Amino acid sequence: MKVIHHGARTGVTGSCHELVDEQCRLLVDCGVFQGKEKSASPDIEFDIKGIQALLITHAHIDHIGRIPWLLAAGYNGPIYASEATAHLVPIMLDDGLKIQLGLNKEQRKRFLDIVNTRMRPIPYHCWVQLSQMVGPPVKFRFTPAGHILGSSIVEIETSQSKRVVFSGDLGSYGTSLLPDPSVVERADMLVLESTYGGKRHEGVDTRQQALKAIIERSFENGGAILIPAFSIGRTQELLFDIENIIAHSQPNGPWQEIPIILDSPLAAKVTEQYQQFKRFWSAEAKERLDAFRHPMAFESCVRIETHDHHEALVERLRISGEPAVVIASSGMCTGGRIVNYLKALLPNNNTDVILAGYQAEGTLGAQLLAGNSNVKVDNKMVDVKAQVHALSGYSAHADSQDLIRFVTEFESEPKVIRLVHGSPDAQKALAEKLRIIGANIDIQLGCES
Ligand SMILES: [Zn+2]
Repeated sequence: MKVIHHGARTGVTGSCHELVDEQCRLLVDCGVFQGKEKSASPDIEFDIKGIQALLITHAHIDHIGRIPWLLAAGYNGPIYASEATAHLVPIMLDDGLKIQLGLNKEQRKRFLDIVNTRMRPIPYHCWVQLSQMVGPPVKFRFTPAGHILGSSIVEIETSQSKRVVFSGDLGSYGTSLLPDPSVVERADMLVLESTYGGKRHEGVDTRQQALKAIIERSFENGGAILIPAFSIGRTQELLFDIENIIAHSQPNGPWQEIPIILDSPLAAKVTEQYQQFKRFWSAEAKERLDAFRHPMAFESCVRIETHDHHEALVERLRISGEPAVVIASSGMCTGGRIVNYLKALLPNNNTDVILAGYQAEGTLGAQLLAGNSNVKVDNKMVDVKAQVHALSGYSAHADSQDLIRFVTEFESEPKVIRLVHGSPDAQKALAEKLRIIGANIDIQLGCES
């Protein structure tokens, strides 16, 4: 039995792992390379003959974006995913096909119809058997990973009864919308993400108060509060916290008045899936539903659908300077509708920009974070008079302490841990920590495999 990595071996994107045992070959994830690794070819350069199934951990594009290339290479087997992931994959792929490949609506529909016929939604915790020509069956199941809606840890039991566990991307412990990552029984090999293997996230517990404080400070001078956010995960976490602030704010106070604008058709579609799959929310989130609250569709939350409405709203906020909270993608200000807001509103000194996520080097978000007094937006130089705030605590990823906790919560200690989905430095930092807590665990670095 061996695990081969066709991506996310030395970096955080392009996740695609292959489990090979004597009886079968399985793929876990098939994502595109992004950011610094973008130059890597999306072509499937390994032999796909004999691959029996593709298992998807979650619907982020760096875990699913190479599915079109996999199908083009001739893969005609099933695609297994948790129920919510099975709904999110076509939504996220549709966006990717439009933006990355420029396919028109008809072309995208034809392709997504094929994906949907291959998709096998599997309820969490249910073991699925893949029958073999010879020997006992291979089994697998998905359990919640707490990263984004539908995200899963995949446990596979090979025909020799070896347990191989893929963590997928893991969420932080103690966030309020989704439950913590599941406890795993055992693993002969654990393939573990290490995105933040060397880092701690500050302020997960206090992020809601920090968000409230920044927004309340900006109530004093009016103007728009712009929050660039990824369409899946962070947008829903922000809406969830904002609803909670409003629910606990004074009647007739500014929180009751201010419109919360979600200006991203993709984020709106994803938010609908979060609402449809409320049964996967945390106990705390479900309590809010029991109290007849609507954490993602509250009264003051306005969704902007058409591009005409979007343009009209940008212009209205620019001219009137009226207060509004706007959540729009992309999270690093590299595209999407947030760009038009920034172009129009950065020169106003009563605008506030809240950067709640990681801003990669070279992006507009990083330039704003660095405090540049003028920035290039859409090939146009724009003065930055707006206040820019960095807000930590909204990462959808486990930090080093969470990753260690995930491993120590195993009912019996994993025998081998293979670190993937992290820079070589992050893998090394996490390996050092894991060696302290598990002297008997064979810790392998994907970047050295
Ligand atoms: Zn992810």
